[in-house]
Amino acid sequence: MRHTISGIIMLAALLLTGCGGTNSSSGKANDTAASRDIFAMDTFMSLKAYGSNADEALDKAGERISVLEEELSVTNENSDIWRIDHAGGNPVQVSEDTAAILKKALEISDDTDGALNVCLYPVVSAWGFTTGEYRIPDDEEIPSLLKNTDWHSLHLDGSTVTLPEKYQIDAGALAKGYTSDEVMEIMRESGVDSAIVSLGGNVQALGTKPDGSLWKVAVRDPFSPDTDMCVVEVGEKAVITSGNYERYFTGDDGNNYWHIIDGNDGYPADNGAVSVTVIGSSGIECDALSTALFVMGYPAACDYWRSRQDFDMVIVTDDQRIYYTEGIADVFSNISSMPAEVIPVA
Ligand code: FAD
Ligand code: MG
Repeated sequence: MRHTISGIIMLAALLLTGCGGTNSSSGKANDTAASRDIFAMDTFMSLKAYGSNADEALDKAGERISVLEEELSVTNENSDIWRIDHAGGNPVQVSEDTAAILKKALEISDDTDGALNVCLYPVVSAWGFTTGEYRIPDDEEIPSLLKNTDWHSLHLDGSTVTLPEKYQIDAGALAKGYTSDEVMEIMRESGVDSAIVSLGGNVQALGTKPDGSLWKVAVRDPFSPDTDMCVVEVGEKAVITSGNYERYFTGDDGNNYWHIIDGNDGYPADNGAVSVTVIGSSGIECDALSTALFVMGYPAACDYWRSRQDFDMVIVTDDQRIYYTEGIADVFSNISSMPAEVIPVA
C-alpha cells in the first residue's frame, strides 16, 4: 500500500534528520540512545530516546500506545469509539483518554466552524477510508450521510458520551497527536529529557538533542513524497502534517480522492492546500489543527492563523508554493525548488 511505503520513507527521514545513530552507547549516560520501531494505528512509528532510562521509558511508551490503540480504534469492537458508534443513541462510559480527545475535538470543531468534525465518519467510511474498500459515493448518498454529521449533536459530560443514532465518530484526525503527547509524558516521568518520535509523519520532540542542539525535522514534498521539501529546527515541539499524498485512491474517473473530507460537501477537501504542517507545543492541538487547516485550505488557513498566532505552520498550495509563519523564519530551510515566503501578519 502506498501509505506503507511512505511510512518507511518518513522513518528514514526522521532517523536521518532528527537524531544520530540507533542503540549507540558512548559511555556518557545522556548520549546513550535507544529506539523502537512499532506498527500501530495502521502507522509506522519510530521512537527514540536518550539517557540511562531510555530503554525502560520506550517499553512503557510501547505499552501505552497499545492501550490507546485498543481504546481509540474505530474498527476494533472493544474500543470506546466502536461502543459510542454502536450504542444506538444511549450514553456510553469512556476512558479518560477518549474523553480528553473528544473534548479537544469539540473545542477545535467550534473554533474552526466544523473544518474539524469527528462526526464525519459516515462520509469517511462511505469513501472506503479506514477499510481500504475505496469507492466514489454517488450524488444522492453523500447529502443523505451529511444529515447525520452535526458535531453539536455529540455530547460529552465528564466521561459519558452520547451520540444520536445513525451518527458515527472517529478520532483519526487527532488521536496520534494525543498519543505523542502521552509518549512524551511517559518520557518525562521516566527521567528522560531528550527524545523524538515519529508516528507516521507526526513528529514530536522532547528537550533538545543530547548535544544541546535543536532537532531537525524534515517535511515531505507533497508533489514528490519520496523527497523532503523543507527542514524545520525545533526544541520541545510537535511538528504534525496533514496531506493529500499519502492516503488516497485513484477513481475509475482518473481523479485522486484523499482521506480528509470537507464537511460542506462530503468530498475530499480541495480548497487550495495540499499539505499543512502545524508546529506547536501540544501534539493533539497540532494534529487537530493540521486536519482542520487542510480542510480550510489557502488562504483561509492563513486568516485562522492570524486570528491566533499561538502556533506556527507551513502550508503548501496546489500551485506549488510554500507559505510559512514568521515564528519559524529563522529555523526554516527550503530544500525544494518551490518558492517559499513568509505569511504576512496582516
Ligand atoms: P489527519 O489529517 O490527522 O486525519 C485524517 C483522518 O481523520 C482521516 O483518515 C479520517 O479518518 C478523519 N477525517 C477526515 N476528514 C476529517 C475532518 N474534516 N474532520 C475530522 N476528521 C476527519 N486506518 C486503517 O486503515 N486501518 C486501521 O486498522 C487503523 N487503525 C487505527 C487505530 C487508531 C487508534 C487510530 C488513531 C487510527 C487508525 N487508523 C487505521 C487510521 C489511520 O491511522 C488514519 O488514517 C490516521 O489516523 C489519519 O491520520 P493522518 O495523520 O494521516 O491524517
Ligand atoms: Mg490531524
